[in-house]
Amino acid sequence: MGGQWSEVQILSPRLLLLEPDRVKEKDKMIGLSIVDFEKARKRMVEEQLVRRGIQDARVLAAMTKVPRHLFVEEALQDRAYDDYPLPIGENQTISQPYMVGVMTQALKIDPEDRILEIGTGSAYQTAVLAELAYQVFSIERIPSLATKAWKILDYLRYYNVLIKVGDGTLGWKEHAPYNGIIVTASAPNLPKPLLEQLVDGGRLVIPIGNKFLQHLKVFTKKGDTLEVHKICQCTFVKLLGKYGRET
Ligand code: SAH
Repeated sequence: MGGQWSEVQILSPRLLLLEPDRVKEKDKMIGLSIVDFEKARKRMVEEQLVRRGIQDARVLAAMTKVPRHLFVEEALQDRAYDDYPLPIGENQTISQPYMVGVMTQALKIDPEDRILEIGTGSAYQTAVLAELAYQVFSIERIPSLATKAWKILDYLRYYNVLIKVGDGTLGWKEHAPYNGIIVTASAPNLPKPLLEQLVDGGRLVIPIGNKFLQHLKVFTKKGDTLEVHKICQCTFVKLLGKYGRET
């Protein structure tokens, strides 16, 4: 696979924090009502997250704040807060809100944490992580998705995120170790480099299984041992790359 990833591109948003005015501006531009989206977002958090047992107040606050509709194309924006994944181009999907909630909660992020994400995709999960962590390093293998992701994160002024185009199964050594690692594509097993780039006591959240069905697992590194905890069944798009799937 090696040469395929040789051209590494790092994209970094410039400024910090999501400003409600910037969201309103964009909503005005596309002719949709900010009030409707805010309502839909609150309903999403209440009905899809709280009622199904997501309790972490910081995760709930982040998902109440991040404007998920800006991470999908205009034609799908009225469905952005519904209870399922949506296409984002290149045969990839933005994860279902509940899955984002479950995975983020499982990471138990501290405001000082540095988090590695594999599979930037739409960058919605990235933005949620950026609300909770000190820094987020995110790797996407498809350049066009990485560019789109960078643009929206830049627009919303999340400057604590770095995006790289490349094979995420190799991790991102330069910035390691990470307090938490999240993989948002389905792996045949645990990619070794990721484990090596995790701090002692750190958590790694990843869907592992076959192409059709996986188990969402949380690995906690404890010295030389690894604790594993199964959360739920799930179906993600494929994690490709050296320590992922071949096709
Ligand atoms: N969290 C994203 C999920 C996107 S789908 C969201 O909610 O929008 C998973 C993403 O993983 C896809 O964009 C896919 O291109 C990417 N991916 C698959 N294998 C990868 C690899 N080895 N390295 C980096 N990204 C990968």
